Amino acid sequence: MFESLVASTAGRSGAGAVESWSRVENAACARRVAAMAAMFAAARAADGSASRDQWCLDNWDAVAAHVGAAQRITHGAASNQLLIAVALHERFPLVAAVFADGLITYQLVRVVVQRGALVVDPSALHELDRLLADALGDREPMSVATAEKTVDAFVAQVDPHAVHRTETRARGRGVDVSEDEDGSGMATVYATLFAHDAKAFDARVDSLARTVCPADPRTVDQRRADAIGAVAHGADRLACLCETEDCPAGEYPPSTGVVVYVITHQDALGERPSPPPPGPKPEPTVPEPADDVSPGENAEPSGTSDSGASDSDERSNNVVPQPESRDDLPSEPADERTALDGEPPAMFTTPLRELTLTEALTPASGRVATLRPAALMGGQFLPGAIACRASIGASITRIVHPGQAPPEPRYRPSKKLADFVRCRDMTCRFPGCTVPATHADVDHTIPWPFGPTAASNLKCLCRRHHLLKTFWGGESGWRDVQLDDGTVVWTAPDGRQHITTPGSRLLFPELSKSTATVVASDVPRSHTGGLTMPRRKTTRAHERARHVQRNRAAQAEARTAP
Ligand SMILES: [Zn+2]
Ligand SMILES: [Zn+2]
Repeated sequence: MFESLVASTAGRSGAGAVESWSRVENAACARRVAAMAAMFAAARAADGSASRDQWCLDNWDAVAAHVGAAQRITHGAASNQLLIAVALHERFPLVAAVFADGLITYQLVRVVVQRGALVVDPSALHELDRLLADALGDREPMSVATAEKTVDAFVAQVDPHAVHRTETRARGRGVDVSEDEDGSGMATVYATLFAHDAKAFDARVDSLARTVCPADPRTVDQRRADAIGAVAHGADRLACLCETEDCPAGEYPPSTGVVVYVITHQDALGERPSPPPPGPKPEPTVPEPADDVSPGENAEPSGTSDSGASDSDERSNNVVPQPESRDDLPSEPADERTALDGEPPAMFTTPLRELTLTEALTPASGRVATLRPAALMGGQFLPGAIACRASIGASITRIVHPGQAPPEPRYRPSKKLADFVRCRDMTCRFPGCTVPATHADVDHTIPWPFGPTAASNLKCLCRRHHLLKTFWGGESGWRDVQLDDGTVVWTAPDGRQHITTPGSRLLFPELSKSTATVVASDVPRSHTGGLTMPRRKTTRAHERARHVQRNRAAQAEARTAP
């Protein structure tokens, strides 16, 4: 297997060589990891190992020392590698097989082991291994960020204790403010809060930090810290510290609210889905999640050139897709929603001293989540109960799947259609890109007017990849074809294909049901769709040279300083 992988890379060059050598590299790494797991298994199987497990320097340490010496790495690093190796082979044998085929990276393996670490139920673990091996082996290669979301979603799906963990962590939320007791006049704030609130907080602090002029002497970190003070005082901007008379900061827009988009099923909104409408099947709805705020402000893509023609300003506030109605609706989702508040749940129902050791060590039986999970736009997985919490006070936008609707007769998609496309895609659709759809342009895959304004011809592209497609595209450049289910097949300049599927496919498969097939009305001529390529002030090589020069000058100065 390994030999055939190596043999198949022979004679390749360019991106093809990069791809096949990466696969060889993964497969080789999988063999190193498997060797470590085997070393530990052998040590444990050896005569007298049970007694050596009682030693201060036990079987584990002995194997870790050997692994560390073999690679000239520290004991800690070796022990960590061993931990991942053993956990992978004992807990996720099917994922280990995908790794051995070179289809996933060590980084992804680490994500699986770490995010799956809390699953104890053997049947849940087995199911998780199977789901992950399927997803990681069959679909297009996943980024680490996507893999994290995928593992989290699968854990939520199969592990009866995931609900319990969410409840326990949620009930542990709080804010600590402590004055640093070193006489420095500083204080430390430590907070644990819902992810959607934290995201809004992060965006708000950033937005406040940007209200000063470029001459402000503070670093970004310092301005963010001061922004927390501004929030505390209810201010909508930071006082600029540039000390110039004509500081332009006063003309900058103040920081207003921020928008956090949560995509969720309707069942998280505290209403039971209405019975399926007669006729065309389920329409996913996208409810808008979350928080307050004025759209626009934080939604602005940064550093973009302004092109009136790009479709980027069609942004809705928040969007929530709604699930098709299900027959197996949770009996009591209300329990899950309210279980986020109050004292942390007791670990045991009887006092600890009345339990046998076995009872104490056996996890209480959990329950599988009834509310379907949700997602923050572009990002992280949210348990259904938390999505439900996020919907309180949020503006809700119902996402409507266009079904077989005909194209819209204009260049710019309606808000309804753009909302659907953003919720379906969740991120930029270039392979590996994770820019949230709310910060992306809506691109016509077949350029307008040759291709229509319809769901099957629209997708999200961040400005960078929109520019790439527009200016590095054409017959011998990047080309893309979009299928009715939102799949995009990219062809690279070397002719190799890269497939991306909509980001919502795992959690909201109803959003990638086929939409009406589109046809190009003519062979599109290449054009730039109103985009202009921003010009660099200096070339990258020039910038690098200047950077080196500055560093050398600083060092020379330091040497000559007394
Ligand atoms: Zn200023
Ligand atoms: Zn992108």
